[in-house]
Amino acid sequence: MRLAFFGADGKVGRALVPVLEGAGHEVRGLGLGDEPDVAGLDAAVDFTSPDAAPGNVRAALEQDVSCVVGTTGWDPAPLGGLALERGLRLFVAPNFSIGAVLMLRFAREAATYLPRAEIVELHNEAKRDAPSGTAKATAELIGGNPAIHSIRLPGLVAHQEVIFGGEGQLLTIRHDTTGRESFAYGVLLALEKLAGLPAGLTVGLDAIL
Ligand code: NAP
Repeated sequence: MRLAFFGADGKVGRALVPVLEGAGHEVRGLGLGDEPDVAGLDAAVDFTSPDAAPGNVRAALEQDVSCVVGTTGWDPAPLGGLALERGLRLFVAPNFSIGAVLMLRFAREAATYLPRAEIVELHNEAKRDAPSGTAKATAELIGGNPAIHSIRLPGLVAHQEVIFGGEGQLLTIRHDTTGRESFAYGVLLALEKLAGLPAGLTVGLDAIL
């Protein structure tokens, strides 16, 4: 596919663009200050910031380009309406790594039997939003309004623990992202499935696995 990548010079962008190119996609990297000129491309990918993503996505949709978005900490629902009106797809996932999606699935199952849980999410200090999109999605999935503890420190990439407490026992489900290449599988999958999705907003890798 011919792609635009908003945030190509960011930490995720630098890891993902070579993988997308290696998979045969042609990538136009766009950074802060670049004209969001994406007309005629097959899709736009956005890993920028919660301030930048809405403008980038709006610009892409207005140029009739569907979007795959990993940026967290913003509400994509209003732009889902614009995508629907224009017959385009807006796919947003708070976590593109397969291990994290499995963590959510396993946590949902565990919550059936162990309803008391708390979530600890640990990310690099550069991550601006807290709690993380994945932690919020996990809390919603397991129900019961679990406490979320957010840690931001250098040395971390993206990690999450879901700790279930029962009488005389603890169950911890933990996922560690040790390299940003882990997000590539999910982005490649989203691009592959994009045209087959219904028009409008689709949220979460789980929806396309
Ligand atoms: P980052 O290193 O700060 O990279 C963001 C990049 O976007 C920077 O190069 C920044 O440029 C650029 N940028 C800012 N405004 C822009 C605009 N209007 N148009 C184009 N580019 C723009 O952040 P990151 O670690 O790569 O993460 C990016 C986002 O992805 C964050 O929201 C993070 O939470 C999210 N994320 C999601 C997943 C997932 O699986 N869904 C995984 C990891 C990260 P400047 O440096 O010049 O400002």
